[in-house]
Amino acid sequence: MKRLKKDNVVSFLKEMNKKEKVFCPQSVDGRDLMFMPLEEGVYTGNIGKTTISAKTVLFPQTEEILSFTEKSISKTIDASKTLLFGIRPCEMKAIQFVDQFMTRDNFIDPHYQSRREKVTTIAIACHEPPSDTCFCVDAGGMPYLENGYDVQLFDAGDYYMALSGSEHGEEILANKYFEKGDEEDKERLEEIKNKALHSQKNSPGMQKAIEILRENKPDEAFWEGLADRCINCGGCVYVCPTCTCFNVYDLPSQGGHIRCRSWDACVHAGFTRETSGHNPRPTQGSRLARRHEHKLKFDIVNFKESGCVGCGRCSDTCPVGLGAIEIIQELNAL
Ligand code: SF4
Ligand code: SF4
Repeated sequence: MKRLKKDNVVSFLKEMNKKEKVFCPQSVDGRDLMFMPLEEGVYTGNIGKTTISAKTVLFPQTEEILSFTEKSISKTIDASKTLLFGIRPCEMKAIQFVDQFMTRDNFIDPHYQSRREKVTTIAIACHEPPSDTCFCVDAGGMPYLENGYDVQLFDAGDYYMALSGSEHGEEILANKYFEKGDEEDKERLEEIKNKALHSQKNSPGMQKAIEILRENKPDEAFWEGLADRCINCGGCVYVCPTCTCFNVYDLPSQGGHIRCRSWDACVHAGFTRETSGHNPRPTQGSRLARRHEHKLKFDIVNFKESGCVGCGRCSDTCPVGLGAIEIIQELNAL
């Protein structure tokens, strides 16, 4: 086990930034914490929970996917070596979930996949929940990771304890900024893990909600009653680390056209409306049902795990109290 002094984090990241593009949680205008390229915001040492998840790196809000003229067509792949520093365990789980989604049935999304192959992850375990809306443990996760990372850091006060989870992680720990730990670090690590496991108080009852959905208990009136409050802003979808709805459109560009994709949201009527004008999800209630059934029912059928990792971002964001926590609580009350 190695150590990384918190005072050395920025120097380490600057050194890494010479070889690969480093993204980490940074403060913007002293307010929102965002996952962004090093030095585009201010790294304060607060890893916290970013307002929008790190999916912005692997699945950007808007990207060009191909360009074409009357005579030719070419795919645009924009991927370079990237280091994600400060990924929280729930977010790492979300990336693993999206990995499955983007490669399911051998239908591989080349844009996501080419970025993913070039990403190194340095996760930071949560020694305490970054916010009151975190419920990863209730959602079947943990405040630290057992696998799936390159390096995982544990907060031990003025330094991080560092574990490698891959060959590349071993190489990173050979960097001069990682120092040798002492005999007691192993014991200290177990204490941190144990404390972290018991420090999360938010427990909305996701497993019971999954059961209630499996039994088809909520009816149309349940969803329409909740959806009366929804202002259809899409915030819950945009901030979610596992949501990947997108729209595709063409724009004129330098004698030809480019095809782009941008985030979309299943809560918008236009997302499901068909060319004929028919909409299989015609009401806000049916779209709200679709979003939550997708995560807590059909993802479990398709991927053997829920599509919600319990980050709580949708509850932080929704202006009318219709995030996953509130929906789970409403389901539990049926
Ligand atoms: S549904 Fe909400 S709580 Fe669950 S992963 Fe998405 S943003 Fe996080
Ligand atoms: S964030 Fe809330 S109000 Fe906005 S679309 Fe989602 S559920 Fe509706």
